[in-house]
Amino acid sequence: MSPVIYPTTNFTAIEQLCLTRGEGIYVYDADGNKYIEGLASLWCTSLGYSNTEVIEAITEQLNTLPFSHTFGGKTHPTIMALADKLRTMVPVEDAYFFFGNSGSDANDSHYKMLRYYFNAIGKPEKRKIITRERGYHGVTVAAGSLTTLPANLAHFDAPVEALGVLRTDSPHYYSNRKGNETEAQFVDRIIQSLEDQILAEDPDTIAAMIVEPITGASGVIVPPEGYYEKLQAVLRKYDILVWADEVITGFGRTGNDFGCTTMGIKPNLMTFAKQLSSAYYPISAAVIPGWMYQAMIEQTNQVGVFGHGFTYSGHPVACAAALKTLEIYERDNLFAHAAEVGDYLQAQLREAFTDHPLVGEVRGKGLIAALELVSNKTTGASFDKGIAGATAQRLCQDNGLLLRAVAGNAIALCPPLIITRDEIDALMGKLKAAIDGTYAELQ
Ligand code: PLP
Repeated sequence: MSPVIYPTTNFTAIEQLCLTRGEGIYVYDADGNKYIEGLASLWCTSLGYSNTEVIEAITEQLNTLPFSHTFGGKTHPTIMALADKLRTMVPVEDAYFFFGNSGSDANDSHYKMLRYYFNAIGKPEKRKIITRERGYHGVTVAAGSLTTLPANLAHFDAPVEALGVLRTDSPHYYSNRKGNETEAQFVDRIIQSLEDQILAEDPDTIAAMIVEPITGASGVIVPPEGYYEKLQAVLRKYDILVWADEVITGFGRTGNDFGCTTMGIKPNLMTFAKQLSSAYYPISAAVIPGWMYQAMIEQTNQVGVFGHGFTYSGHPVACAAALKTLEIYERDNLFAHAAEVGDYLQAQLREAFTDHPLVGEVRGKGLIAALELVSNKTTGASFDKGIAGATAQRLCQDNGLLLRAVAGNAIALCPPLIITRDEIDALMGKLKAAIDGTYAELQ
Protein backbone atom coordinates (compact mmCIF):
# COMPACT_ATOMS: atom_id res chain seq x y z
CA MET A 1 0.00 0.00 0.00
CA SER A 2 1.47 3.35 -0.97
CA PRO A 3 1.17 6.43 1.27
CA VAL A 4 -1.25 8.22 -1.04
CA ILE A 5 -4.39 9.99 0.18
CA TYR A 6 -6.68 9.05 -2.68
CA PRO A 7 -9.41 11.49 -3.74
CA THR A 8 -13.08 10.57 -3.47
CA THR A 9 -12.20 7.09 -2.24
CA ASN A 10 -13.26 4.92 0.66
CA PHE A 11 -9.97 4.58 2.56
CA THR A 12 -10.84 0.97 3.42
CA ALA A 13 -10.94 0.04 -0.27
CA ILE A 14 -7.99 1.65 -2.04
CA GLU A 15 -5.80 0.54 -4.95
CA GLN A 16 -8.31 -1.82 -6.54
CA LEU A 17 -7.43 -1.10 -10.16
CA CYS A 18 -4.06 0.04 -11.43
CA LEU A 19 -4.15 1.39 -14.98
CA THR A 20 -0.90 1.51 -16.87
CA ARG A 21 -1.65 2.61 -20.44
CA GLY A 22 -4.34 3.70 -22.86
CA GLU A 23 -5.07 3.68 -26.56
CA GLY A 24 -8.10 5.10 -28.40
CA ILE A 25 -11.11 4.57 -26.12
CA TYR A 26 -9.37 1.71 -24.27
CA VAL A 27 -7.27 1.51 -21.11
CA TYR A 28 -5.19 -1.43 -19.85
CA ASP A 29 -4.45 -2.50 -16.30
CA ALA A 30 -1.19 -3.76 -14.82
CA ASP A 31 -2.17 -7.36 -15.68
CA GLY A 32 -2.81 -6.45 -19.32
CA ASN A 33 -6.63 -6.54 -19.08
CA LYS A 34 -8.34 -4.25 -21.58
CA TYR A 35 -11.30 -2.00 -20.75
CA ILE A 36 -13.53 0.38 -22.67
CA GLU A 37 -13.27 3.69 -20.79
CA GLY A 38 -17.03 4.30 -20.71
CA LEU A 39 -16.80 7.46 -18.59
CA ALA A 40 -13.90 9.06 -20.50
CA SER A 41 -12.02 8.56 -17.22
CA LEU A 42 -13.73 11.31 -15.18
CA TRP A 43 -15.88 12.78 -18.00
CA CYS A 44 -12.81 14.32 -19.60
CA THR A 45 -10.69 12.27 -22.07
CA SER A 46 -12.70 13.35 -25.10
CA LEU A 47 -9.99 12.54 -27.67
CA GLY A 48 -9.17 9.17 -26.12
CA TYR A 49 -5.76 8.04 -24.94
CA SER A 50 -3.35 8.17 -27.85
CA ASN A 51 -3.82 11.44 -29.67
CA THR A 52 -0.36 12.05 -31.11
CA GLU A 53 -1.23 15.55 -32.33
CA VAL A 54 -1.97 16.79 -28.80
CA ILE A 55 1.11 15.00 -27.50
CA GLU A 56 3.23 16.67 -30.21
CA ALA A 57 1.76 20.12 -29.44
CA ILE A 58 2.60 19.61 -25.76
CA THR A 59 6.09 18.40 -26.61
CA GLU A 60 6.73 21.33 -28.90
CA GLN A 61 5.65 23.77 -26.21
CA LEU A 62 7.86 21.99 -23.66
CA ASN A 63 10.78 22.36 -26.04
CA THR A 64 10.06 26.03 -26.70
CA LEU A 65 8.85 27.60 -23.46
CA PRO A 66 7.96 24.99 -20.83
CA PHE A 67 6.77 27.58 -18.38
CA SER A 68 6.20 31.25 -17.90
CA HIS A 69 3.82 32.89 -15.45
CA THR A 70 1.30 35.52 -16.48
CA PHE A 71 1.35 37.89 -13.47
CA GLY A 72 1.99 41.62 -13.57
CA GLY A 73 2.05 42.30 -17.31
CA LYS A 74 3.80 39.15 -18.52
CA THR A 75 2.21 37.07 -21.24
CA HIS A 76 3.08 34.51 -23.93
CA PRO A 77 1.70 33.76 -27.41
CA THR A 78 -0.10 30.52 -26.49
CA ILE A 79 -2.34 32.01 -23.79
CA MET A 80 -3.32 34.86 -26.11
CA ALA A 81 -4.05 32.47 -28.98
CA LEU A 82 -6.18 30.28 -26.73
CA ALA A 83 -8.24 33.20 -25.41
CA ASP A 84 -8.74 34.53 -28.95
CA LYS A 85 -9.89 31.09 -30.12
CA LEU A 86 -12.26 30.57 -27.20
CA ARG A 87 -13.77 33.98 -27.75
CA THR A 88 -14.94 32.88 -31.21
CA MET A 89 -16.65 29.84 -29.67
CA VAL A 90 -18.44 30.85 -26.47
CA PRO A 91 -21.94 32.36 -26.22
CA VAL A 92 -20.82 35.05 -23.74
CA GLU A 93 -20.70 38.59 -25.09
CA ASP A 94 -17.23 40.06 -25.53
CA ALA A 95 -15.87 37.24 -23.36
CA TYR A 96 -12.78 37.37 -21.11
CA PHE A 97 -11.05 34.29 -19.72
CA PHE A 98 -9.34 33.64 -16.42
CA PHE A 99 -7.31 30.43 -16.69
CA GLY A 100 -6.65 27.98 -13.87
CA ASN A 101 -5.97 24.31 -13.36
CA SER A 102 -9.25 22.65 -12.38
CA GLY A 103 -13.00 23.03 -12.52
CA SER A 104 -13.04 23.70 -8.78
CA ASP A 105 -10.56 26.56 -8.94
CA ALA A 106 -12.39 28.09 -11.91
CA ASN A 107 -15.60 28.15 -9.86
CA ASP A 108 -13.73 29.70 -6.95
CA SER A 109 -12.33 32.32 -9.33
CA HIS A 110 -15.87 33.10 -10.47
CA TYR A 111 -16.96 33.45 -6.87
CA LYS A 112 -14.24 36.00 -6.26
CA MET A 113 -14.74 37.84 -9.55
CA LEU A 114 -18.46 38.20 -8.80
CA ARG A 115 -17.62 39.85 -5.48
CA TYR A 116 -14.95 42.01 -7.11
CA TYR A 117 -17.41 43.11 -9.79
CA PHE A 118 -20.33 43.90 -7.48
CA ASN A 119 -17.99 45.79 -5.15
CA ALA A 120 -16.71 47.70 -8.18
CA ILE A 121 -20.18 48.84 -9.22
CA GLY A 122 -21.15 49.84 -5.66
CA LYS A 123 -23.44 46.88 -4.90
CA PRO A 124 -21.46 45.04 -2.23
CA GLU A 125 -24.62 43.48 -0.78
CA LYS A 126 -25.28 41.55 -4.02
CA ARG A 127 -23.22 38.51 -3.02
CA LYS A 128 -25.30 35.38 -2.44
CA ILE A 129 -25.21 32.51 -4.92
CA ILE A 130 -28.05 30.11 -5.64
CA THR A 131 -27.15 26.49 -6.23
CA ARG A 132 -29.36 23.44 -6.68
CA GLU A 133 -29.87 20.27 -4.72
CA ARG A 134 -27.90 17.49 -6.42
CA GLY A 135 -25.38 19.91 -7.82
CA TYR A 136 -21.65 19.24 -8.20
CA HIS A 137 -19.30 22.17 -8.71
CA GLY A 138 -16.04 20.93 -7.24
CA VAL A 139 -14.42 20.54 -3.84
CA THR A 140 -12.37 23.63 -2.99
CA VAL A 141 -13.78 25.76 -0.21
CA ALA A 142 -16.07 28.02 -2.27
CA ALA A 143 -16.85 25.55 -5.08
CA GLY A 144 -17.29 22.84 -2.48
CA SER A 145 -19.88 25.01 -0.75
CA LEU A 146 -21.83 25.23 -4.00
CA THR A 147 -21.73 21.44 -4.30
CA THR A 148 -24.71 19.86 -2.57
CA LEU A 149 -23.94 16.13 -2.73
CA PRO A 150 -23.94 14.81 0.86
CA ALA A 151 -20.64 12.92 0.62
CA ASN A 152 -18.80 16.09 -0.42
CA LEU A 153 -20.13 18.03 2.58
CA ALA A 154 -20.16 15.51 5.42
CA HIS A 155 -17.45 16.01 8.08
CA PHE A 156 -15.99 19.02 6.24
CA ASP A 157 -18.26 21.51 8.05
CA ALA A 158 -19.44 22.61 4.62
CA PRO A 159 -20.98 24.68 3.21
CA VAL A 160 -19.11 27.64 4.67
CA GLU A 161 -21.84 29.90 5.98
CA ALA A 162 -20.16 33.21 5.17
CA LEU A 163 -20.25 32.32 1.47
CA GLY A 164 -23.99 32.96 1.34
CA VAL A 165 -25.05 29.85 -0.56
CA LEU A 166 -28.77 29.40 -1.17
CA ARG A 167 -30.17 26.06 -2.27
CA THR A 168 -33.08 25.41 -4.56
CA ASP A 169 -34.76 22.29 -6.00
CA SER A 170 -33.10 19.79 -8.25
CA PRO A 171 -34.96 19.67 -11.58
CA HIS A 172 -35.11 15.87 -11.54
CA TYR A 173 -38.72 15.07 -12.38
CA TYR A 174 -38.32 11.30 -11.96
CA SER A 175 -37.26 11.47 -8.31
CA ASN A 176 -38.86 14.74 -7.17
CA ARG A 177 -42.33 14.77 -8.72
CA LYS A 178 -45.27 14.78 -6.35
CA GLY A 179 -48.16 12.37 -6.92
CA ASN A 180 -49.54 12.58 -10.44
CA GLU A 181 -47.85 15.87 -11.21
CA THR A 182 -47.04 16.32 -14.93
CA GLU A 183 -43.62 17.54 -16.03
CA ALA A 184 -45.09 20.98 -16.75
CA GLN A 185 -46.69 21.16 -13.29
CA PHE A 186 -43.43 20.02 -11.70
CA VAL A 187 -41.51 22.78 -13.51
CA ASP A 188 -44.06 25.41 -12.49
CA ARG A 189 -43.91 24.29 -8.87
CA ILE A 190 -40.13 24.38 -8.50
CA ILE A 191 -39.80 27.66 -10.41
CA GLN A 192 -42.47 29.25 -8.21
CA SER A 193 -40.64 27.98 -5.16
CA LEU A 194 -37.41 29.56 -6.46
CA GLU A 195 -39.14 32.89 -7.06
CA ASP A 196 -40.64 32.81 -3.55
CA GLN A 197 -37.19 32.12 -2.13
CA ILE A 198 -35.60 34.97 -4.10
CA LEU A 199 -38.24 37.41 -2.84
CA ALA A 200 -37.86 36.18 0.75
CA GLU A 201 -34.07 36.63 0.60
CA ASP A 202 -34.27 39.99 -1.21
CA PRO A 203 -33.18 39.88 -4.88
CA ASP A 204 -30.69 42.73 -4.29
CA THR A 205 -28.61 40.36 -2.16
CA ILE A 206 -28.32 37.63 -4.82
CA ALA A 207 -25.53 37.79 -7.39
CA ALA A 208 -25.93 34.68 -9.52
CA MET A 209 -27.30 31.19 -9.87
CA ILE A 210 -24.98 28.33 -10.85
CA VAL A 211 -26.29 25.41 -12.91
CA GLU A 212 -24.82 22.43 -14.69
CA PRO A 213 -26.87 22.48 -17.95
CA ILE A 214 -27.09 18.68 -17.59
CA THR A 215 -25.61 17.38 -14.35
CA GLY A 216 -22.85 14.81 -14.16
CA ALA A 217 -21.78 13.57 -10.75
CA SER A 218 -25.30 13.76 -9.36
CA GLY A 219 -26.55 11.24 -11.91
CA VAL A 220 -26.90 12.96 -15.31
CA ILE A 221 -30.10 14.89 -14.65
CA VAL A 222 -31.67 16.36 -17.78
CA PRO A 223 -34.22 18.98 -16.69
CA PRO A 224 -37.68 18.82 -18.28
CA GLU A 225 -38.74 20.81 -21.33
CA GLY A 226 -39.44 24.43 -20.41
CA TYR A 227 -37.42 24.42 -17.18
CA TYR A 228 -34.53 26.60 -18.32
CA GLU A 229 -36.79 29.03 -20.16
CA LYS A 230 -38.81 29.67 -17.02
CA LEU A 231 -35.77 29.64 -14.77
CA GLN A 232 -34.00 32.28 -16.84
CA ALA A 233 -37.10 34.46 -16.98
CA VAL A 234 -37.17 34.57 -13.17
CA LEU A 235 -33.43 35.20 -12.85
CA ARG A 236 -33.48 38.02 -15.40
CA LYS A 237 -36.55 39.55 -13.73
CA TYR A 238 -34.53 39.94 -10.51
CA ASP A 239 -31.23 40.83 -12.14
CA ILE A 240 -29.52 37.59 -11.07
CA LEU A 241 -26.71 36.38 -13.34
CA VAL A 242 -26.86 32.98 -15.05
CA TRP A 243 -23.67 31.01 -14.36
CA ALA A 244 -23.31 27.85 -16.43
CA ASP A 245 -20.91 25.27 -15.07
CA GLU A 246 -19.90 23.51 -18.30
CA VAL A 247 -17.04 21.53 -16.79
CA ILE A 248 -18.62 18.30 -18.06
CA THR A 249 -21.04 19.53 -20.73
CA GLY A 250 -18.60 21.83 -22.52
CA PHE A 251 -17.16 21.02 -25.95
CA GLY A 252 -19.45 18.60 -27.71
CA ARG A 253 -20.50 16.33 -24.86
CA THR A 254 -24.25 16.85 -25.31
CA GLY A 255 -24.10 16.84 -29.11
CA ASN A 256 -23.61 20.61 -29.44
CA ASP A 257 -20.71 22.92 -28.70
CA PHE A 258 -22.01 23.58 -25.20
CA GLY A 259 -24.66 22.25 -22.85
CA CYS A 260 -26.09 25.78 -22.91
CA THR A 261 -26.84 25.39 -26.63
CA THR A 262 -28.50 22.00 -26.09
CA MET A 263 -30.61 23.24 -23.19
CA GLY A 264 -31.40 26.76 -24.45
CA ILE A 265 -29.42 28.67 -21.82
CA LYS A 266 -28.03 32.16 -22.42
CA PRO A 267 -25.23 32.29 -19.84
CA ASN A 268 -23.55 35.37 -18.38
CA LEU A 269 -20.70 33.32 -16.89
CA MET A 270 -19.29 29.94 -17.92
CA THR A 271 -16.89 27.48 -16.33
CA PHE A 272 -14.74 25.09 -18.36
CA ALA A 273 -12.14 22.41 -17.59
CA LYS A 274 -11.87 18.69 -18.46
CA GLN A 275 -12.60 18.50 -22.24
CA LEU A 276 -11.01 21.93 -22.77
CA SER A 277 -7.74 20.02 -23.14
CA SER A 278 -9.15 16.48 -23.36
CA ALA A 279 -7.37 16.06 -20.00
CA TYR A 280 -3.95 15.83 -21.64
CA TYR A 281 -2.89 18.68 -19.36
CA PRO A 282 -4.85 20.35 -16.51
CA ILE A 283 -6.48 23.63 -17.47
CA SER A 284 -9.68 25.48 -16.62
CA ALA A 285 -11.30 28.72 -17.69
CA ALA A 286 -13.65 31.06 -15.85
CA VAL A 287 -15.45 33.07 -18.52
CA ILE A 288 -16.98 36.48 -17.84
CA PRO A 289 -18.65 39.05 -20.11
CA GLY A 290 -16.78 42.15 -21.26
CA TRP A 291 -18.96 44.50 -19.21
CA MET A 292 -17.91 42.72 -16.05
CA TYR A 293 -14.26 42.90 -17.01
CA GLN A 294 -14.51 46.62 -17.87
CA ALA A 295 -16.02 47.37 -14.47
CA MET A 296 -13.13 45.62 -12.73
CA ILE A 297 -10.37 47.62 -14.46
CA GLU A 298 -10.63 50.67 -12.22
CA GLN A 299 -10.58 48.51 -9.06
CA THR A 300 -7.33 46.85 -10.13
CA ASN A 301 -5.85 50.29 -10.77
CA GLN A 302 -6.88 51.51 -7.32
CA VAL A 303 -5.41 48.45 -5.58
CA GLY A 304 -2.43 48.14 -7.85
CA VAL A 305 -3.30 44.64 -9.08
CA PHE A 306 -6.18 42.24 -9.59
CA GLY A 307 -5.09 40.29 -6.52
CA HIS A 308 -6.07 36.85 -7.72
CA GLY A 309 -3.95 34.42 -9.72
CA PHE A 310 -2.36 31.00 -9.66
CA THR A 311 1.26 30.26 -10.44
CA TYR A 312 0.00 28.07 -13.25
CA SER A 313 -2.74 30.40 -14.59
CA GLY A 314 -2.30 30.12 -18.33
CA HIS A 315 0.48 27.53 -18.12
CA PRO A 316 1.92 27.50 -21.65
CA VAL A 317 1.87 23.70 -21.94
CA ALA A 318 -1.76 23.55 -20.78
CA CYS A 319 -2.69 26.30 -23.24
CA ALA A 320 -0.94 24.43 -26.06
CA ALA A 321 -2.83 21.24 -25.19
CA ALA A 322 -6.14 23.13 -25.14
CA LEU A 323 -5.45 25.00 -28.37
CA LYS A 324 -4.66 21.78 -30.23
CA THR A 325 -7.68 20.04 -28.72
CA LEU A 326 -9.99 22.82 -29.91
CA GLU A 327 -8.38 22.71 -33.35
CA ILE A 328 -9.03 18.95 -33.58
CA TYR A 329 -12.66 19.32 -32.42
CA GLU A 330 -13.23 21.80 -35.22
CA ARG A 331 -11.24 20.11 -37.99
CA ASP A 332 -12.70 16.66 -37.34
CA ASN A 333 -16.26 17.92 -36.78
CA LEU A 334 -16.26 16.12 -33.46
CA PHE A 335 -19.30 17.92 -32.05
CA ALA A 336 -21.38 16.76 -35.04
CA HIS A 337 -19.90 13.29 -34.63
CA ALA A 338 -20.87 13.32 -30.94
CA ALA A 339 -24.41 14.34 -31.92
CA GLU A 340 -24.67 11.50 -34.40
CA VAL A 341 -23.20 8.67 -32.33
CA GLY A 342 -24.83 10.22 -29.25
CA ASP A 343 -28.28 9.78 -30.82
CA TYR A 344 -27.31 6.20 -31.56
CA LEU A 345 -26.16 5.59 -27.97
CA GLN A 346 -29.34 7.11 -26.53
CA ALA A 347 -31.51 4.97 -28.82
CA GLN A 348 -29.60 1.81 -27.93
CA LEU A 349 -29.86 2.52 -24.22
CA ARG A 350 -33.60 3.11 -24.42
CA GLU A 351 -34.16 -0.01 -26.51
CA ALA A 352 -32.13 -2.21 -24.17
CA PHE A 353 -33.21 -0.83 -20.82
CA THR A 354 -36.56 1.00 -20.87
CA ASP A 355 -38.39 -2.24 -20.06
CA HIS A 356 -35.63 -3.77 -17.95
CA PRO A 357 -36.94 -4.69 -14.48
CA LEU A 358 -33.89 -3.15 -12.75
CA VAL A 359 -33.97 0.17 -14.61
CA GLY A 360 -36.34 2.92 -13.48
CA GLU A 361 -35.18 5.64 -15.85
CA VAL A 362 -32.89 5.92 -18.87
CA ARG A 363 -31.76 9.52 -19.31
CA GLY A 364 -29.21 11.61 -21.14
CA LYS A 365 -28.40 13.59 -24.27
CA GLY A 366 -25.64 13.16 -26.80
CA LEU A 367 -22.75 11.20 -25.32
CA ILE A 368 -23.76 11.52 -21.67
CA ALA A 369 -26.32 9.23 -20.10
CA ALA A 370 -27.35 7.33 -16.97
CA LEU A 371 -29.41 4.34 -15.95
CA GLU A 372 -31.28 4.68 -12.66
CA LEU A 373 -31.29 1.27 -10.99
CA VAL A 374 -34.37 0.69 -8.83
CA SER A 375 -35.64 -2.04 -6.55
CA ASN A 376 -39.22 -1.42 -7.63
CA LYS A 377 -39.88 -0.29 -11.17
CA THR A 378 -43.43 0.84 -10.40
CA THR A 379 -42.69 3.01 -7.38
CA GLY A 380 -39.10 3.91 -8.35
CA ALA A 381 -37.89 2.82 -4.90
CA SER A 382 -34.12 2.72 -4.63
CA PHE A 383 -31.67 0.21 -3.18
CA ASP A 384 -30.01 0.94 0.17
CA LYS A 385 -26.44 2.25 0.27
CA GLY A 386 -25.95 2.25 -3.49
CA ILE A 387 -25.74 -1.54 -3.56
CA ALA A 388 -27.15 -1.87 -7.10
CA GLY A 389 -24.86 0.85 -8.45
CA ALA A 390 -21.80 -0.69 -6.81
CA THR A 391 -22.69 -4.19 -8.09
CA ALA A 392 -23.27 -2.95 -11.63
CA GLN A 393 -20.00 -1.00 -11.60
CA ARG A 394 -18.12 -4.12 -10.45
CA LEU A 395 -19.75 -6.38 -13.05
CA CYS A 396 -19.08 -3.82 -15.81
CA GLN A 397 -15.42 -3.84 -14.80
CA ASP A 398 -15.34 -7.65 -14.79
CA ASN A 399 -16.74 -7.46 -18.34
CA GLY A 400 -14.07 -5.01 -19.53
CA LEU A 401 -16.08 -1.78 -19.21
CA LEU A 402 -15.23 1.08 -16.86
CA LEU A 403 -18.29 3.04 -15.75
CA ARG A 404 -19.12 4.81 -12.52
CA ALA A 405 -21.97 4.47 -10.09
CA VAL A 406 -22.96 8.00 -9.09
CA ALA A 407 -25.49 9.39 -6.63
CA GLY A 408 -26.04 5.91 -5.23
CA ASN A 409 -27.70 3.73 -7.80
CA ALA A 410 -27.24 5.57 -11.09
CA ILE A 411 -24.76 4.15 -13.59
CA ALA A 412 -23.26 6.98 -15.62
CA LEU A 413 -21.96 6.76 -19.19
CA CYS A 414 -19.79 9.41 -20.83
CA PRO A 415 -17.46 7.78 -23.39
CA PRO A 416 -14.74 9.64 -25.30
CA LEU A 417 -16.19 11.80 -28.10
CA ILE A 418 -14.21 9.79 -30.65
CA ILE A 419 -16.19 6.61 -29.97
CA THR A 420 -17.62 4.90 -33.07
CA ARG A 421 -20.92 3.05 -33.58
CA ASP A 422 -19.13 -0.30 -33.52
CA GLU A 423 -17.48 0.61 -30.25
CA ILE A 424 -20.87 1.67 -28.85
CA ASP A 425 -22.20 -1.76 -29.84
CA ALA A 426 -19.34 -3.40 -27.93
CA LEU A 427 -19.98 -1.13 -24.93
CA MET A 428 -23.71 -1.97 -25.02
CA GLY A 429 -23.02 -5.72 -25.04
CA LYS A 430 -20.87 -5.43 -21.92
CA LEU A 431 -23.31 -3.10 -20.19
CA LYS A 432 -26.31 -5.34 -20.89
CA ALA A 433 -24.49 -8.35 -19.46
CA ALA A 434 -23.54 -6.38 -16.34
CA ILE A 435 -27.06 -5.02 -15.73
CA ASP A 436 -28.60 -8.49 -16.24
CA GLY A 437 -25.96 -9.89 -13.88
CA THR A 438 -26.74 -7.21 -11.29
CA TYR A 439 -30.44 -8.02 -11.48
CA ALA A 440 -29.71 -11.73 -11.00
CA GLU A 441 -27.39 -11.06 -8.02
CA LEU A 442 -29.87 -8.80 -6.26
CA GLN A 443 -32.84 -11.18 -6.52
N1 PLP B 1 -18.00 21.36 -12.02
C1 PLP B 1 -18.53 20.24 -12.52
C2 PLP B 1 -19.84 20.29 -13.22
C3 PLP B 1 -17.84 19.02 -12.42
O1 PLP B 1 -18.38 17.91 -12.89
C4 PLP B 1 -16.58 19.02 -11.78
C5 PLP B 1 -15.81 17.77 -11.67
O2 PLP B 1 -16.27 16.70 -11.97
C6 PLP B 1 -16.08 20.22 -11.26
C7 PLP B 1 -16.81 21.37 -11.40
C8 PLP B 1 -14.77 20.24 -10.55
O3 PLP B 1 -13.75 20.05 -11.44
P1 PLP B 1 -12.31 19.55 -10.89
O4 PLP B 1 -12.49 18.14 -10.42
O5 PLP B 1 -11.43 19.68 -12.10
O6 PLP B 1 -11.92 20.46 -9.81
